[in-house]
Amino acid sequence: QVVNYAPFTLLPSAVPRALFEQAYAVQQDFNLLVDAISQNKEFLEKTLASTIKVDDFTARLFRIYIQVLEEGLAQTVFLGINRSDYMFDCELDGTAALRQIEINTIAASFGGLTSRTADVHRLVLKVLGKTEEASHLLPNNPAKGLALGIAKAWELYGSPRAVVMFLVEEVQRNIFDQRCVENELWNRNIRVVRKRFRDVFEQGSLDASRRLYMDGQEVAVVYYREGYVPQVYDQQNWEARLLLERSRAVKCPDIATQLAGTKKVQQELSRPGTLEKLLPGCPEAVARIRATFAGLYSLDEGEEGDRIAATAIADPDRFVLKPQREGGGNNLYGEELREVLEKIKDSPERTSYILMDKIKPQPALNYLLRAHSPLRVSECISELGIFGVYVRQGQELVLNQAAGHLLRTKAIEHADGGVAAGVAVLDTPYLV
Ligand code: ADP
Ligand code: MG
Repeated sequence: QVVNYAPFTLLPSAVPRALFEQAYAVQQDFNLLVDAISQNKEFLEKTLASTIKVDDFTARLFRIYIQVLEEGLAQTVFLGINRSDYMFDCELDGTAALRQIEINTIAASFGGLTSRTADVHRLVLKVLGKTEEASHLLPNNPAKGLALGIAKAWELYGSPRAVVMFLVEEVQRNIFDQRCVENELWNRNIRVVRKRFRDVFEQGSLDASRRLYMDGQEVAVVYYREGYVPQVYDQQNWEARLLLERSRAVKCPDIATQLAGTKKVQQELSRPGTLEKLLPGCPEAVARIRATFAGLYSLDEGEEGDRIAATAIADPDRFVLKPQREGGGNNLYGEELREVLEKIKDSPERTSYILMDKIKPQPALNYLLRAHSPLRVSECISELGIFGVYVRQGQELVLNQAAGHLLRTKAIEHADGGVAAGVAVLDTPYLV
């Protein structure tokens, strides 16, 4: 095995205080929204109808969703851990605006490692003789916040001997991030096991009341850190996923909440009237959410889709073309966007994508420190993520919080990609 340090910036990056506070202030609203979508079968069905005709992965997830609903859910406790990501768009008048890139509802990562980042940057600033500036860096401990949610779900499950199962990757590249959360659970005397889909296929079973057992060990909570890309699913792993979804264990997220995080859902949310329907009686929450939206456009067949496709082909640098995928490196920009859209513009395949306005932040200089990479100054842009955690029991929301933040920074020559994709590095906001 090979161990590297997680990549990080040498210096913290400036973040406008007002936008940082805006991002925190809207997080509980986003938790409510994701939770509401996950309970709204009609909305999910209607929104994903065109997508699942052409996107096989989303279609398979959707089939499991319908199957477990038809059988009847075995659990009334729901645990959501998400991360809403933003960039700071540079407006025409020179001011910056908070614009949501996406909300991750499954396997939102780096809450663990980033619980250590502020300490690193505090030390760097002190070494540079900037003790005063060092004292301004905010404390940040998402690991603790995420563990709080998992612990609450475990407690509500109500079986002290049952474990929390982290569903992890085949090749475990980000184990230390997960360990930070895991250790918080051990500190609360909650047992944690780490398993892969393959292990679930081989050792998993349900009893008559659909309690989940792994080799005789009851599982109270399944925390997915895997399962969002098609490549991990062979036939056995699909069966394992179905077993988990059918089970009484609390799933983080359940399959409905994973579907709520698709790009297609994000795009439909930006249509006038949609937020109001999903969050009736919450006009303030709706306004806070909408204020973070960038322009999002459907490529469904019809006049609306034809028009935006033509606009994007004529001016590709204004847009990002996004398929229904997670994990970075899937979006298309510039010339590539134009080529792909030209090719698919008259075929139903285009409905597996959405278009989004491209956010253009003001770059700043920093050093990106990565194992085996030369040290040089780069022009960089940052992306802020806010972690959200909530627990619902039946119709009652028993926990709804923002659980900390993540700042990732990358060189401007990379259009796409996060820390795991080897593009972005961990950073700390310095509020200005
Ligand atoms: P994924 O689910 O693969 O992470 P994202 O929507 O988060 O997909 O996009 C991946 C990366 O692409 C983001 O982290 C960001 O750097 C870049 N990106 C995405 N959308 C935009 C946009 N509208 N404008 C500019 N950059 C974007
Ligand atoms: Mg992302």
